[in-house]
Amino acid sequence: MTAGDTTNAPEAAQEQPTTTTVPGQAERLESIRPFLPREFAARLVDQLTVGSNPQSVEIVAPLTGETIVELPQSGPGDVRHAFEKARAAQAAWAARPVGERCAVLRRLHDLLLDNSEHLLSLLQVETGKTRLHAFEEIGVSAATARHYAHSARGYLRPRHKLGVLPIITKVTEYRQPKGVVGVITPWNYPLALAAMDILPALVAGNGVVHKPDNQTALSGVYLRQLAVQAGLPAELWQVVTGDGPVTGPAVVDHADYVAFTGSTRTGRQVAQQAAGRLIGCSLELGGKNAMIVFDDADLDKTVSGAIRGCYTSAGQLCISIERMYVHHAVYDQFVDRFVTEVKALKLGSTLDFAADVGSLTNTKQLETVTQQVEDARIKGAHVLAGGRRRPDVGPLFYEPTVLTDVAAGMTLYAEETFGPVVSLYRFENEAEVVQAANDSRFGLSASIWTRDTKRAKEAALRLHSGMVNVNEAYAAAFGSVAAATGGMGDSGLGRRSGAEGIWRYTEVQTVARQTVLPIAPSLGLGPARYTKYLGSALRLLKILRVR
Ligand code: NAD
Repeated sequence: MTAGDTTNAPEAAQEQPTTTTVPGQAERLESIRPFLPREFAARLVDQLTVGSNPQSVEIVAPLTGETIVELPQSGPGDVRHAFEKARAAQAAWAARPVGERCAVLRRLHDLLLDNSEHLLSLLQVETGKTRLHAFEEIGVSAATARHYAHSARGYLRPRHKLGVLPIITKVTEYRQPKGVVGVITPWNYPLALAAMDILPALVAGNGVVHKPDNQTALSGVYLRQLAVQAGLPAELWQVVTGDGPVTGPAVVDHADYVAFTGSTRTGRQVAQQAAGRLIGCSLELGGKNAMIVFDDADLDKTVSGAIRGCYTSAGQLCISIERMYVHHAVYDQFVDRFVTEVKALKLGSTLDFAADVGSLTNTKQLETVTQQVEDARIKGAHVLAGGRRRPDVGPLFYEPTVLTDVAAGMTLYAEETFGPVVSLYRFENEAEVVQAANDSRFGLSASIWTRDTKRAKEAALRLHSGMVNVNEAYAAAFGSVAAATGGMGDSGLGRRSGAEGIWRYTEVQTVARQTVLPIAPSLGLGPARYTKYLGSALRLLKILRVR
């Protein structure tokens, strides 16, 4: 594997801002207030499970630095109380026919779309992402509601199985809800990740205690509010706030199952705590996702896919592309076109559809991105585009960045950046690129671009990646909510979406009813003749290929 050439004037890229801003909006957004009235935020805050005199933390809008809300914080007692309330409501909910539970999701689907303008603004205000990227969250949330509304009955239906003595042993597997599920979500996709993990838990008959990240708690509460409006018993879904290392473990302490989305580091702690309590958990963690461009790729589509893959939500997307491997035959052509398009991207903080790339969400993320790019630059990487903060657009903006000559020893070579930064590499052949793409402790999502369907499939099956997108950057796999999604290796445990996404929230219970004969010597047979007949019966079952 050779790093790419650096003839595209990287030094110039370091001196001049390479990315433009939305025309007419080079100046910063002055206030989020018209888009997030205080009364609206106050109504959402009222739904949190907090004590009578809670401490509050100030939550700041990434786009302007303004205060969004003084967010009351739940204490350990509040978390316990939240579980008690959800548990009290859960039995009656689980006793309702699945069809009734599905009807709530069907109504929620429509409410999500009917209220999309409010939701888009709230998501933009809390995360700093563009309106188009915010809509992805609404789209996947509605699709999840639709999918489980239509499929939950099938996923949960009792299944008849072959008995130990066929015909006379009647066996049925039932799926029982776990009880009350703890759902812990991060700040980057606050609506979508909450919907993807919470809706299947509810429709399976569980209660939920949700701990969103403080930064984006209101989006989670708004989703709950719409679910209650759709007919969900209000007590069934509790939302608790608080500092992650304090409230998070309190949630795991009381839950019957935990669905965690966040960093690999925290995921390990959650897994250890869940193991100590002998409860199950699913972990949706970080990634260092690779994109492979073969020599027969349609370059127009590939360049636009690469832009989406690298810069959606300013790269704060667990499945965003951070490594790009391009076949040497098309490398120069691809890089020229890609870098040109990256430089033409418009940064912006407007709460409309004008901007191509939005803001980072918090100071920590801005520091991480800045440090990783500086570390790479100092150690020999070249910046083909971006590579700088843009405080003129908003306090947390960072330009879409393209690097070459990234090598082992630079932090961003192997560590997740979680920002708008991609490293380009040149490759010669398929074996080499599969090995390079797999050279990571993560295994979340990958992307392959080629016109050759057979080649795409063969390469996909050799990638150590829970999701592989062919001729798409990330949305084909992640958005297909009927299929399981999740990560291999350090990217996680378990799967969300599809059958796996709901079965994780159930306990399988086998009920076997014996008829006619016992499973023991009977009809006057002694043990010796009984075991002989039983042995013959087993041989016959094998010959008859009985499963
Ligand atoms: P994080 O692990 O710091 O926090 C995630 C959530 O866990 C937050 O709600 C936080 O408050 C809570 N938390 C913190 N400490 C905890 C603890 N000790 N016990 C329980 N909960 C705790 O992650 P982050 O920085 O907020 O999110 C970004 C990370 O999430 C990235 O690594 C990204 O790749 C990953 N992510 C993964 C997916 C996925 O589907 N695989 C989706 C989105 C984000």
